[in-house]
Amino acid sequence: MHFETKAIHAGTHIDEETGAVAPPIHLSTTFERNDDGAASRGYVYVREGNPTQSRLEEALAAIDSAAAALAFGSGMGAGAALLQSLPAGSRVLLPDDCYYGYRALANDYFERWGLQLARDASSADVIWAETPSNPLLQIVDIAALAETAHANGAILVVDGTFGTPALQRPLDLGADVVLHSTTKYLGGHSDVQGGSLAFRERGALYEHVLHARKLIGGVASPFNSWLVLRGIRTLSARMRVHSENAMHVARFLASHERVEAVFYPGLESHPGHEIAKKQMRSFGGMLSFLVRGSRAETLAIAARTKLFVRATSLGGVESLIEHRHSSEGAGSRTPENLLRVSVGLEHYEDLVGDLGEALG
Ligand SMILES: *Cc1c(COP(=O)(O)O)cnc(C)c1O
Repeated sequence: MHFETKAIHAGTHIDEETGAVAPPIHLSTTFERNDDGAASRGYVYVREGNPTQSRLEEALAAIDSAAAALAFGSGMGAGAALLQSLPAGSRVLLPDDCYYGYRALANDYFERWGLQLARDASSADVIWAETPSNPLLQIVDIAALAETAHANGAILVVDGTFGTPALQRPLDLGADVVLHSTTKYLGGHSDVQGGSLAFRERGALYEHVLHARKLIGGVASPFNSWLVLRGIRTLSARMRVHSENAMHVARFLASHERVEAVFYPGLESHPGHEIAKKQMRSFGGMLSFLVRGSRAETLAIAARTKLFVRATSLGGVESLIEHRHSSEGAGSRTPENLLRVSVGLEHYEDLVGDLGEALG
């Protein structure tokens, strides 16, 4: 089956009781047991699992070609549950450019959790990759990195939030786990928080993370599960337009005299372009660029946009612009003249026009 078809049909079995085509939302926190005390219908208590979350997990596994998937209350919750499930003493290799929250977890919690930062791939138990990366849109060759990881007895975890399963499927390329902040493109409308992990094997790691989720409680609520499931239905259609629009915006920025550099894997000038072309269906809706100018001039450009909303996050229908250094705060490695853009689903001419006026 093609991706589009899977994304529409996964987890959609007709509701037995009513014949409802759209999935019901089961808000119940508790579920009836049989006479003998068993829970033969599979559900006991909402934190351990709930029917709406199960439907979402079916869909998440299907769209990432996974053996199993787990939904969480946020992308950070998903990543933390995975890290907390590793054996004590595990060495984790984090990339230079990655979501700042995971670096903060490493700095503030690894020691308490008995984890260590690995220095290089050969000494790592877990290689963590993010592609395209945040906020520099760097591209990692997933298949090559999976080979390196496996040759050293490590596992490869890919944060695929920017790429989404519509554009790239890391598990098919050899990764062991793929993480998404479903708050972003999978939800797709800036109105729900969630995270997910999809596993190549339904093995010991999956079981540990499931156990961690039950005990630590980062479960996805029924309503949030329902919204993410709804977002998945339109994911591939949205990603087509996000990618098309972002390409127009990237080309425009690349030709503008006030722009020093554009980071978008769809541009031939991007160092990761060839790999991105090989492992992604299109290049997604995220890009960032460097302004020729100071921090103040960079902030002023973001302040002049009328369509692009100055806000953090990404992956919604509306375009956003963000001064990432300000958002990340102390310790940020992001250049002060960088603006990150989440290109939405508006008409690209309006977006280019807005940026043109803001750049002056
Ligand atoms: C937003 C984001 C996260 C964290 O997800 P939350 O849902 O905000 O917890 C992780 N990785 C990437 C690449 C993100 O953009």
